Amino acid sequence: MRILVTGGAGFIGSHFVRETLGGRYPAYARAEVVVLDKLTYAGSETNLAAVADDPRMRFVRGDIRDGPLVAELMRGTDLVVHFAAESHVDRSIAGSAEFVLTNVVGTHTLLQAATDASVPKFVHVSTDEVYGSIDSGSWTEEEPLRPNSPYSASKASSDLLARSYHRTHGLPVCVTRCSNNYGPHQFPEKFVPLFVTNLMDGLSVPLYGDGGNVRDWLHVDDHCRGIALVAEGGEPGEVYNIGGGTELTNRAFVTRLLDAFGLDESMVDRVPDRKGHDRRYSVNIEKIAGQLGYAPLVPFDEGLESTIQWYADNRGWWEPLKKSLK
Ligand code: NAD
Repeated sequence: MRILVTGGAGFIGSHFVRETLGGRYPAYARAEVVVLDKLTYAGSETNLAAVADDPRMRFVRGDIRDGPLVAELMRGTDLVVHFAAESHVDRSIAGSAEFVLTNVVGTHTLLQAATDASVPKFVHVSTDEVYGSIDSGSWTEEEPLRPNSPYSASKASSDLLARSYHRTHGLPVCVTRCSNNYGPHQFPEKFVPLFVTNLMDGLSVPLYGDGGNVRDWLHVDDHCRGIALVAEGGEPGEVYNIGGGTELTNRAFVTRLLDAFGLDESMVDRVPDRKGHDRRYSVNIEKIAGQLGYAPLVPFDEGLESTIQWYADNRGWWEPLKKSLK
């Protein structure tokens, strides 16, 4: 059994690779893993250091848009788990060309090559942001796509390509749409690691607008377990939401962080709201729970505490990355 993991040197993909090779997913306990990653600013081989010497892991530096390379890697692949993407909303507002090229054109390259090689299963990792914003209630997988940022529009486009490759070519592809992930190894420009590492160093944190935007928080470990369940048992052509079950306003999240560091509101800088900022995301996870037995297992308080601890213990990982942003 060979798994091709795209974007496996990023935050979520590297967690999936480490857990797969660590035997956490019984169906893939003996699988070989090929990682295809371009190592953009967001990817780092250090995220795979724990499994670098595992003979079942092979790292290939390359672009998912490289047709001949992708075609070669697809041959003999039993499962594709596609994480590679440009993933930061703020960057997509500053300039979205790379988002279209990687998220849309790159996904198309993978879907076509997987079809040509008759790959038996393809999991396309997407986001709840494709649904837009919801004031109350939660989205089921039947909800229309109303993406609001160039990032989420590029992901929605790739979801639709995935759907079309199933309907047209019969490619056994499942799409997963998850909520906001947190955990170790997340690039320190994102909300949680930026705020945690700032507070650790006595620096203030920038809170968008009134801080009333609501997000559902999903530990990366729960997300990756959900993906493994979809890879093993998900119905081809179907979409599965994956959520964490902890909805918080950004303001409430920041209060938890301030409490954890024994700091107060004076550490918060109110900054102008993000353009087109979605007010609330909320996924209904009854489908994956009912069909595949998924439930989030990491309690938010414990997940947050261990995440803070990981950044405290791994300054050597995030400090150079943060410096590279200046
Ligand atoms: P990330 O930015 O940490 O990692 C992305 C990885 O993809 C990096 O290693 C990067 O080098 C690689 N990559 C980028 N362009 C590439 C290309 N053209 N060819 C090959 N590799 C390329 O992202 P993440 O947070 O780990 O997200 C993984 C997936 O999960 C993405 O598809 C994202 O849309 C989705 N997602 C993430 C979140 C979240 O909260 N982080 C939430 C919902 C969905």
